[in-house]
Amino acid sequence: MMNRIYLDYSATTPPDPQVIEAMVAVFGSSYGNASSVHSFGREARAIHEQSRDRVAHWIGARSDEVFFTSGGTEADNHAVKGLALAGARIGKNEIITSAAEHHAVLHPVESLRKAGFDVKLLSVDKFGQLDPDEVKKAISSKTAVISLMLANNEVGSINKIDEIAAIAREASVPIHSDTVQAMGKIKVDVDTLGLDVLSISAHKFYGPKGTGAIYIRKGTRIEPFMEGGSQESNRRAGTENVPLAAGFAKAAELAESRLDEDHEKILGLRKKLMARLTSEFTGLLLNGHETECLPHILSVSFDSSVTPLDGDAIIMGLDLEGIAVTSGSACTSGSLQASHVLLAMGRDERTARATVRFSIGRLTTEQEINFAADALKRVVERVAKAGTGR
Ligand code: PLP
Repeated sequence: MMNRIYLDYSATTPPDPQVIEAMVAVFGSSYGNASSVHSFGREARAIHEQSRDRVAHWIGARSDEVFFTSGGTEADNHAVKGLALAGARIGKNEIITSAAEHHAVLHPVESLRKAGFDVKLLSVDKFGQLDPDEVKKAISSKTAVISLMLANNEVGSINKIDEIAAIAREASVPIHSDTVQAMGKIKVDVDTLGLDVLSISAHKFYGPKGTGAIYIRKGTRIEPFMEGGSQESNRRAGTENVPLAAGFAKAAELAESRLDEDHEKILGLRKKLMARLTSEFTGLLLNGHETECLPHILSVSFDSSVTPLDGDAIIMGLDLEGIAVTSGSACTSGSLQASHVLLAMGRDERTARATVRFSIGRLTTEQEINFAADALKRVVERVAKAGTGR
């Protein structure tokens, strides 16, 4: 069988064996409903609250400020819609976000726009970063919510969210940040960053898929997301998913204890990959900031004015070589659309489509990095020769 190399850790990560072990233990034996008052329920409740404590500790929050969700998308939807609707109750109908956000923020913002909210979509610079002054200028007496990501999932650039949050605080506007890609890669502390609300997804740091959390600072005005029972302090109705939360908590614990070790190793591999790629290809563009970036993401584009290449063919060619990577693009009905993030950074459409996002993880080896660089060289030569540049 062909050797397969996984370099798509931004999309998702393999669950750590200790995470699986933690979940299996709960799935099998502590199956009570955490909201039941009998002993089975109390046992599940105790595990669930331990998981909450663990996650809260990791981000420097109080336990009663952390609420489990079904993942990053739900946390983002809850944050954006919940803050906007709470703002509307006091006559505020404006949302500030950016063109480079994940669709889990942009799509709910678009729904709110259709429902009558005004949206100020901030632009990003050529590195995909926000200018805090632009945030300051955009705030008005009508602003209900600011939602801006800590680090971008396609190019890895990190925003000055602490500065932006200070501006929001000064103006008494609640600020949410999608911290999904940053968790486990850089230190995220709610007070250091000064955030009111943030989103977490467990499967991005070796936890299970389908679970995550929203942090809501005490005193923040936000509407509940899911209505029904009184779970998660009336913020998120639905029977608690105790096993997944336990896996999430174990992943958080591991991420906290391994932060420096992971960072050093992964950043080292990123640098090696970058050096290999720049020596192999002319006209290769780095997407994102070279130093103010997450350690695990390396996104590169082939400049269409130097080497016009078909992005679909590159990704497919790499897949045939056994390398799992993503382009900076969304796949719609079988063909790649240029990424909204890369376009917002000023890349032309053709260059944006000819993008490869490598993302590196705990299990990546130097050998894999070298193999991937060699494979990219073979694929690009084939694609260029086939002349399928579009
Ligand atoms: N936000 C960002 C920045 C992401 O990268 C992702 C996942 O790709 C999400 C939100 C959505 O998270 P989830 O997959 O847990 O719904």
